[in-house]
Amino acid sequence: MKIFCIGRNYAAHAAELQNEIPSEPVVFMKPISALLKGNQPLYYPSFTQNLHYEGEVVLRIGKNGKKIQEKFAAGYIDAITLGFDFTARDIQDKLKAKGLPWEIAKGFDGSAAIGNFIPISDIVNFPNIAFTVLKNGEIVQNGDTQLLLFSFAKIISYISQYFTLHTGDLIFTGTPEGVGPVQIGDILTARIGENTLIQCPIK
Ligand code: MG
Repeated sequence: MKIFCIGRNYAAHAAELQNEIPSEPVVFMKPISALLKGNQPLYYPSFTQNLHYEGEVVLRIGKNGKKIQEKFAAGYIDAITLGFDFTARDIQDKLKAKGLPWEIAKGFDGSAAIGNFIPISDIVNFPNIAFTVLKNGEIVQNGDTQLLLFSFAKIISYISQYFTLHTGDLIFTGTPEGVGPVQIGDILTARIGENTLIQCPIK
C-alpha cells in the first residue's frame, strides 16, 4: 500500500507559503508507518518546533491500474475521506531552501492521519467536495475541490504514469490556504458539512 501526496494544489495555499504555482502536479510519498487512523492522537514529535496541520481530501484507490487516462480516472476512486498531512514546517523550510528531499519533514510516524471513508456513490456532486478544518472548534481552513489546480482525475492519471496504482493506495490531494501550527493539547477536526470524518488530538 502506498501513500501519495500532492503539494501546492490550491493556488491560495501555494501563495501563503511563497511557492510558485506548479505547471505539473507536485508528488511526494509517505511510508506506511506514517499512517494514523481511528482518531488516534498524534504525539508531537520532539524534532520539530513548528508542527503544522494541512487538512486535505484523501482518495482511496479501488482497483489496480497504470497509465490511466484522465477520462477513466474517476472509476479508480472507491472512497474518500479527510486527513491531515502533518508537516514539520521548520525542517521542511530548511530542506526546501537547500533543494533537498523533505521526507523527514513530511513522512514521519503519524504524519498521514486519515478519517472514516465515505463511498463516492454517497457523495452528492462528486468530485466537488466542500470541507472544513477546525482547530479547537474554530474554523481554520475552508476547502473546495472545485479550486484544485489539478483535479482528482488529473492527479490519478499523472501519478499512474510513473507508479502502478494498487487497490487501497491513498492520495492526499493537497491543502487549501489556512495551514498553521498546532500545540500539544489542540484538537483538529475535519468535516464535510456536519459529518465529522476525523478528529485528531495532539498529545
Ligand atoms: Mg499537503
